[in-house]
Amino acid sequence: MPGHSPTLYVIDAANRISSVNDAFWHFAERNGWSPKSQDVLGHSLWEFVGGDGICFVYRRLHDRVRRKGLQISFAARCDSPTHKRTIGVALLPAGEGAIRFAADIESEVAWPGTPLPTIKAPRRRLCTKCTEIECKDGWMPVDEALIANRLELGFDDIQLDVCGRC
Ligand SMILES: [Zn+2]
Repeated sequence: MPGHSPTLYVIDAANRISSVNDAFWHFAERNGWSPKSQDVLGHSLWEFVGGDGICFVYRRLHDRVRRKGLQISFAARCDSPTHKRTIGVALLPAGEGAIRFAADIESEVAWPGTPLPTIKAPRRRLCTKCTEIECKDGWMPVDEALIANRLELGFDDIQLDVCGRC
């Protein structure tokens, strides 16, 4: 959104958080978390990323960025209990296996009254063998699906499974 800065953090080749920006701390506080720098810096990313589905997707994205040395950007749903939110996410290679993440809120709309969990989208199946995810018009690799903005969902909506071909 105009007038506020994206949340940035960098992970090293071993997926440890090596730096974050001021917006990171502000975003944490807005979400009811007030960490100190020693609670975050040097810690594994996996201490903060919850859920098998999202960890699986992150690993795929890290692999792709490190292998190809190219930026990935996509939009993802990141709802709070009171707001429907879409965030723009970018992963950039930062040298020696490091990856720089930038996340910024693209849109934020207050839900009138209705608590979010009751209006969740159906979960999407992600095959852990071939790493393809079930989209509206068939299965495709999850990183391709994200980049093509074919997933109208948050990471929490991903269900790890095995597809019919695997
Ligand atoms: Zn499969």
